[in-house]
Amino acid sequence: MSDLDKMEVEYFRAQLPEFEKKTREFHEGKMNIKEYKSFSGKYGSYAQRMGKRHMLRLRMTAGRMPLSKLNFVVDMAKKYDVNLVHFTTCQAVQFHDLLPDTLFDLMNKALDVDIICYGGGGDYPRNVMCSPLSGVEADEYFDVMPYAEKMADYLVHYIDREKMPRKLKVAFSNSKANTTHATFRDLGFVAREDGLFDVYAAGGLGIDPRLGVLVDEGVKPEDILYYTKAMIHTFRKYGNYENRRKARTRFMVEALGSEESFRKAYQEELAKVFADGEDLKLREIRDLSSHKEADGTPEQSWRIIEQKQKGLYSLLWHPIGGSPKLEILEKVRDEAAKMKDVELRVTPDESVYIINLTGKEADRLLKITEEDCARNPFETSVSCVGATICQVGLRDSQGMLKKAIEKVREANLRDDALPKIFISGCTSSCGTHQIGRLGFRGAVKFVDKKPFPGFLLFEYGDERQNQERFGQEVGTLLEEDVPNFLIDLGRMVEASGKSFDEYLRENPDAIKQAAKPYI
Ligand code: SF4
Repeated sequence: MSDLDKMEVEYFRAQLPEFEKKTREFHEGKMNIKEYKSFSGKYGSYAQRMGKRHMLRLRMTAGRMPLSKLNFVVDMAKKYDVNLVHFTTCQAVQFHDLLPDTLFDLMNKALDVDIICYGGGGDYPRNVMCSPLSGVEADEYFDVMPYAEKMADYLVHYIDREKMPRKLKVAFSNSKANTTHATFRDLGFVAREDGLFDVYAAGGLGIDPRLGVLVDEGVKPEDILYYTKAMIHTFRKYGNYENRRKARTRFMVEALGSEESFRKAYQEELAKVFADGEDLKLREIRDLSSHKEADGTPEQSWRIIEQKQKGLYSLLWHPIGGSPKLEILEKVRDEAAKMKDVELRVTPDESVYIINLTGKEADRLLKITEEDCARNPFETSVSCVGATICQVGLRDSQGMLKKAIEKVREANLRDDALPKIFISGCTSSCGTHQIGRLGFRGAVKFVDKKPFPGFLLFEYGDERQNQERFGQEVGTLLEEDVPNFLIDLGRMVEASGKSFDEYLRENPDAIKQAAKPYI
């Protein structure tokens, strides 16, 4: 969090005794798991599947993890022997398998380094998302990170202010890559070449996914808070408080009859917000750029990316499944602590970038992360935490990903034979399965009228701006068949001598063909 003052932090601290009281009651059997979930989400925590252990979501505002927050993550994970640290698709860091007393201490100490867990779940504004390389990416339109941070500061005040029908996810995008899905979030600010934003609203994944509605164009960056306030008012006025299944912002579009009606309703609220006189103009936008001195060129690696700051680099680190080994995270921290201006950026696909590295620093961190890192784009695949942890999950998405990677390694496929895949354990889409060229969603497969664990396959999703498309359903595979399907597809690609992308361009039915024997 960029500009939180002491009073705000103490307000959040003052909420913790209530959390502790209710959590103890839950463990004493005075609340059931459903009642507890509807209470604890507000504090950024849920009881895990068997109800004995807890998850804590550490909000990394806009995905930024400067050294102070990285120190907290590493020191606390070590102190409490946290066996699962997870980078999430909402650019947060989750600790899993926590005991209640650990949880209370963590939530309290997190506030000392401006990590606000409060509002991390439930029907509140969630972690503001931001393109992870914003400010350092060579071909970005402009750096949207300072605006994302200002937005986060603004939105934390809404946690205890105005009841909304459901959560509100706000995202910023700095380029056409649209990695934060800003064109299909509850509210998205999409950078343009001329230094202004286009604003999209009422989009989202999950059941009945919907692309966002373009509600305004050419918005001055200093005016973005007016647009957010207008969205909250629109949501409170037209959102569905009766039916949670239809309560996310995207359902307002059908409730109001059309995109045009939604746009009009939003514009009316926006006009009122501008007219009511509250000064929400942003001033004093900080420049976070590093100006440190270069020291040469690093070795060639698909994980090292040149920054727009001459002689500086970003390093991609994707631990399998988005869950780093603690000893490697600690080594990264120890090394980063010796370097100037270095910070981690959690990405929406469960990786981190380590940014502002000189050539020599990039080489050192490349070696440190090597033993706990994806070996190729396929191994950077995304999976939600899945049903072994998540209360509402249907399938063990993490288990499926690990099995697929193990089998694909054994098959010794070429590095470019398969793409990154996206896996969600259920319809909630936490693994963003609709935006992958290959996506999987937990399902049931009937064989001889008997139910078996399965995954529904999706093809040809795309997140890129102006090419957005949700994946189309192909059919359901048995969970145990997914690795074989991937290997068959990879072998078809390999035999052609082309990369996966090239092969698919020439053989658009390839995914269906490879899946046919398993469906
Ligand atoms: S997609 Fe489903 S299983 Fe996966 S984390 Fe979300 S709710 Fe849980």
